[in-house]
Amino acid sequence: MQNEEENAIGLSDGVSDSVYASANGDGGGCAGSGASGGASGCTSGGAKGDSSDSAIACKTAIIVVDMLNDFVTGSLACERGAAIVPALARLLDGARRAGCDANGIANVPIVYANDCHLPGIDHELKLWGEHAMKGTYGAEVVLELAPKATDYIVPKRRYSGFFMTDMNILLRELGVNTVVMTGLHTHMCVRHTTADAYMHGYDVVVASDATDAFTEQDYLSGLEYLRTVYGAMIATVDEIVDAFSR
Ligand code: ZN
Repeated sequence: MQNEEENAIGLSDGVSDSVYASANGDGGGCAGSGASGGASGCTSGGAKGDSSDSAIACKTAIIVVDMLNDFVTGSLACERGAAIVPALARLLDGARRAGCDANGIANVPIVYANDCHLPGIDHELKLWGEHAMKGTYGAEVVLELAPKATDYIVPKRRYSGFFMTDMNILLRELGVNTVVMTGLHTHMCVRHTTADAYMHGYDVVVASDATDAFTEQDYLSGLEYLRTVYGAMIATVDEIVDAFSR
């Protein structure tokens, strides 16, 4: 674990290479040069094993899953979810401090994947009851994590932030190849969003102190699943923010 953490913060172009390394054990290279086929606008340079001075353009986005009033304090209230708000706020602040490019596009884009259910018809409501209903207070991001002008919001009606949404086209056009997963719940919407990110070829980092679930067991088993099945790198908010500033 320590080695992985050192990899994450030792890279000049973000954490994606070490994710790739953790999944494949080949020492890295951007997704564009690897078996994942290149998820993004990253320029494939084939600089495997030479990440530090690679010319490959790697771009990381933060995905914030369901940090909505209903998920934190409302109809699906989760105390453990409320507890991650300060760490997640620190991560978002670190991403925003990375600034924007000449076109005003964030260097580390923040994408909110927000439940936004339609009354009476959404399949998920049969299992969970009404939550995060479109247009309601419960469907708004909690105040402490409120989106800013340079952020993106992707409404969703299923667990995955990719399923029948604009997520993939958004990330591709932003040139993103690595996503940092955060939010609720580690073993449900975060897991399903990570699954689709992986299947679309993105490298995945999970911010371990910026995601949680109803129980410790769900949280820990959720993390372990992401690590073993999607090759996700597990890193803390501080480690990830540190990588942004390098
Ligand atoms: Zn839902």
